Amino acid sequence: MIIGLTGGIASGKSTVSALLVSKGARLVDADVIAREVMLPGHEVLAAAVKQFGSEILSPDGTLNRGKLGDIVFQDPAALQALNNLTHPAIRREIKERMNSMEEEDPKKLIIVDIPLLFESGLENMFREILVVYVPREVQIARLMERNGLSLEQAEARLHAQMDIEAKRNKADYIIDNSGELAHTEQQVAVLWDRLGLS
Ligand code: ATP
Repeated sequence: MIIGLTGGIASGKSTVSALLVSKGARLVDADVIAREVMLPGHEVLAAAVKQFGSEILSPDGTLNRGKLGDIVFQDPAALQALNNLTHPAIRREIKERMNSMEEEDPKKLIIVDIPLLFESGLENMFREILVVYVPREVQIARLMERNGLSLEQAEARLHAQMDIEAKRNKADYIIDNSGELAHTEQQVAVLWDRLGLS
């Protein structure tokens, strides 16, 4: 059984994924895959160097994220070009991993954590989607605290994403992570039962 997991920035996706893994789920993490395709030796990094030049590399051949960020965040066309290189490879890798996990053990829950699942139009990849929800104010407070951001900086990051209420409306399952961790754990246990996994 495969479920897509998403939410807003700092809503608790990693926290809930870890709780599900501790109960026995397997995890495909889109952020990890996104980093892997930019490692030395990967064809996606090679294509990015071809597109943007070797100045995006550090002397040791690894990606210089700051340099790449400088190029793409002031040029929407460059950002689009980078996404065109990375997104198909990331999508392919996600599909391959989740399908092979399902083949290995069809009864096991496979969680696919994709922060920008809705924004990237990946809804159709999943029969069911779990949204990790906190109200906007909690999201902003946790983001400010974790990343040491000002209110304005945190609001700008939220603004770049689909609103969390809209995501909540699209969910098949909702975990409300606005309370204590124990309350989130309880909801994860209820979901586990509901999915017939106990
Ligand atoms: P990102 O969008 O960066 O991937 P995320 O959605 O995976 O973040 P987490 O990293 O799980 O979110 O949590 C965001 C922050 O909120 C972290 O600092 C985490 O420790 C804190 N946090 C998560 N859940 C709770 C909770 N129930 N109570 C208090 N703090 C929490």
